Amino acid sequence: MLHINRVNLSVIEMPLKLPFFTHLGTVKKRQSIIIEVMDRDGVSGLGEAVAFSSPWYTEETTQTVLHMMKDFLIPKLFTEKINHPAGISSIFDSIRRNEMAKSGIETAIWDLYAKKQGIPLSILLGGSRSEIRTGAVVATQNEEEALKQIEYFQEQGYQRIKVKISPANDIDFLRAIRKEYPHIPLMADANSAYTLNDVGRLKVLDEFQLLMIEQPLSVTDMVDHATLQRQIATPICLDESITSYHDAYSAIQLESCKIINIKMGRVGGLENARRIHDLCVKHQIQIWCGGMIEFGVSRAHNIALATLEGFTIPGDIVSSNHYWEEDIIEPFVEVKNGVISVPAEVGIGFSINRKRLKEVTIYNEEFVKGKGV
Ligand SMILES: [Mg+2]
Repeated sequence: MLHINRVNLSVIEMPLKLPFFTHLGTVKKRQSIIIEVMDRDGVSGLGEAVAFSSPWYTEETTQTVLHMMKDFLIPKLFTEKINHPAGISSIFDSIRRNEMAKSGIETAIWDLYAKKQGIPLSILLGGSRSEIRTGAVVATQNEEEALKQIEYFQEQGYQRIKVKISPANDIDFLRAIRKEYPHIPLMADANSAYTLNDVGRLKVLDEFQLLMIEQPLSVTDMVDHATLQRQIATPICLDESITSYHDAYSAIQLESCKIINIKMGRVGGLENARRIHDLCVKHQIQIWCGGMIEFGVSRAHNIALATLEGFTIPGDIVSSNHYWEEDIIEPFVEVKNGVISVPAEVGIGFSINRKRLKEVTIYNEEFVKGKGV
């Protein structure tokens, strides 16, 4: 049994080396919350809540996550019986949604538990890979810039390239890329930029032999995605639409997609991610591990998650130095020849660089069992 008696939250902020463009907005600076949970034996675990500072990707923000943790989730940790991290998601079930807040804490407890067991998190989760394949995301819709970035990713050995598209910039953009790189594994993420009125446009994209088109329609358009999938050859991958096991179940039943992007933050943590993984494997839905322009703690959890056998498509898991001048973990995550070695050390296999964490922390709060919460 776990006896959590202390939780420390650090809101951190860092500028990105290069701005990250989507049609919904450009990310230049990133906030995140680093969570450290400690139990009475003195063992601690690390998690990261990956909500953005404004609600453009999901409804959660840094501030809503802080509120949920402080007023609802942390008090539960101090009062409920916790036997295993797999049970945390049901302890949090009485609180609706707020998946990124839940995930930040749940993942920290997985790390803590793996450390107490003396095993790597990947093994605790049931993973079987010693290295994971990785892909990268082009952060611009400028044609020339995009081609330069792809050239760099190719040199780094990334095994799959993803670009962001919208009706304002899709066919010509993809054509320009395919002209230079006719055979690279390429996919396009629309972040809900289209509607069913765009079927004609989306059909044209079939000629580019994309691995998939990610989230073409709106978040709640499960039925419309099924209608679209029947009309286009490119496999649809759902991202924002999948916030729970039940969403994944609905998408599979309705045939709304052929691929699912699993992000532990978006689905409430590692246990839910694992359940969605198992469901997808059972129904032969391909999966991959999505990224959130995150810092090293979340990246380390993603590495552990992506060791599960169903993650067959390279994920958005990049080197620490891809977005950051200096990440907050040690050692840095490194991509070599398109793969990341899975750490053999206990827990997430990376430790926090306290000095760097302090430098980038803009707010810190500690909660102690029995003291006010
Ligand atoms: Mg996406």
